[in-house]
Amino acid sequence: MRGVAASILIVEDEYAVARGLQYALQQEGYDITVARSGEEGLEIATRAAPDLIVLDVRLPGMDGFEMLRRLRGAGNKAPVLFLTARDEEMDKVIGLELGADDYMTKPFGLRELMSRIKSLHRRAYGELADAAGGRVIRHHDLLIDLDRRRVQRGDRRLSLTATEFEILRHLASRPGRVFSRRELIELVRDYEALDQDEKTINVHVSHLREKLEDDPSDPQFILTVRGAGYAFAER
Ligand code: CA
Repeated sequence: MRGVAASILIVEDEYAVARGLQYALQQEGYDITVARSGEEGLEIATRAAPDLIVLDVRLPGMDGFEMLRRLRGAGNKAPVLFLTARDEEMDKVIGLELGADDYMTKPFGLRELMSRIKSLHRRAYGELADAAGGRVIRHHDLLIDLDRRRVQRGDRRLSLTATEFEILRHLASRPGRVFSRRELIELVRDYEALDQDEKTINVHVSHLREKLEDDPSDPQFILTVRGAGYAFAER
């Protein structure tokens, strides 16, 4: 079962740097994937929609600039932290122009990198990033307390079933990411014996919307993506 930890894709061809980053970030509770080339990075970013990307500029084949250009071109808005070599001032400029959110110059301290990642993540996703594990999710006046399994809109506490909570938790942990009905069944199944019929997800989502949304027929939080599944609204 997928955890609630924020996911980070590291695109870095230098083995030692990638390993060091991976280890340090895993210690902080992040869910890490490593790609060794721009092509691989782009493929994973497109398929797995990581919450954040650490991207080396100098890569064999497709470099970091090109990967970022294609990523943004495809509409992927995940925050990107660029890694540049010392003295390559132009890299920073180009990277930021292409839509990188921040950069760090190699060699960098892990502590500094960690704090940049946290602040980037917080900027992009609000309090989801307060703990690497994303213990509280806030979206407008909706608050999802993952530890207490409590959901509120403003001062109003919502009473959700375990299945409704799980569906909401998965969707809201990755705003904008489309989850198919099949995928939601798989994710929730560990928690509750769930009918394998994909239509049961529709029923749970419809109950969830009635509790959550101002107007369940015009949802603002849980969106239907026609032919694909459901997605939690992005900010
Ligand atoms: Ca490199």
